[in-house]
Amino acid sequence: MQKKDWTILEILNWTTDFFNKKNIKEARLDAEVLLADVLNVKRFDLYLNFNKILKISEISKYKSLIKKRVEGIPVAYISKKKEFFGYNFKIEKNVLIPRPETELLVENVLDIFEKDTFFKFFEKSKNFFILVDICTGSGIIPITISKKLNEYKNNIFIYGIDISQKALEIAQQNIYNHHAAENVRLLIGDTLYPLETISIQNKIDIITCNPPYIKTSDLQSLEIEVKQEPKIALDGGIDGLHFYRKIIPHSKKFLKKDGYILFEISPELTEKVNELLIENNFHSIIIKKDYQNLNRVMIAKRG
Ligand code: GLN
Repeated sequence: MQKKDWTILEILNWTTDFFNKKNIKEARLDAEVLLADVLNVKRFDLYLNFNKILKISEISKYKSLIKKRVEGIPVAYISKKKEFFGYNFKIEKNVLIPRPETELLVENVLDIFEKDTFFKFFEKSKNFFILVDICTGSGIIPITISKKLNEYKNNIFIYGIDISQKALEIAQQNIYNHHAAENVRLLIGDTLYPLETISIQNKIDIITCNPPYIKTSDLQSLEIEVKQEPKIALDGGIDGLHFYRKIIPHSKKFLKKDGYILFEISPELTEKVNELLIENNFHSIIIKKDYQNLNRVMIAKRG
């Protein structure tokens, strides 16, 4: 970077080339997201100001972010934020970076509220819905659901559970930023165990969970970016099923009859998760595919 006066377009082109040479997959996108972060504007605004000349201080800040990116740090950890379902979430290295695939899980919860007559019935009788999100991490799932179901805001309550205190601190900030404190409450602990202390048996309408589901032996071959994410949020045990095995039987105690459980899965776990659900008397099992046509979400009802 020898040049003195850089316009936005020039520096984006330079950085994109540089990232490409370093084998960064989304070179252009990453260059743009980081520059938007430095300039404190939306990515779209860069396009409206291509000929703007950057200040020396902006260039040096951008350079330091470029350096981090080529060291393998994901953009979300550099900019400390990530968009999910159109909302901006605070993200730090103690939480998993939200993936677009997880939007599918949220969409399916929203669909249940829109289409399921079971819920229509409760809506009429002004009942109260209780949802629980296990392995909540940054809180993207409960917060997005509460924002999208704003019409139910007086009769919906969502618990977000995580074992990591640091993750819950970030989730709490996200709850605050999204004004979701009325509807979302965080509990610390392992999977469903924190619910043992509140009398909530047979009362839950929907349980959601995007658990760690990567096989322990696959962790070492992950891309350098994924390796920066907390191992605790990725490691699904020897066969990737550790959390499904723990949660599915335990969930029966808390779900209402015909209440829903929705999991994100790794496509290769489909058969095994299906078996676990059937063994535990769940019914109406549905598998949803993601944008790449891979099995990604499983939905079932408690028997
Ligand atoms: N619920 C969070 C997410 O979907 C975190 C999941 C996890 O840590 N495995 O991004």
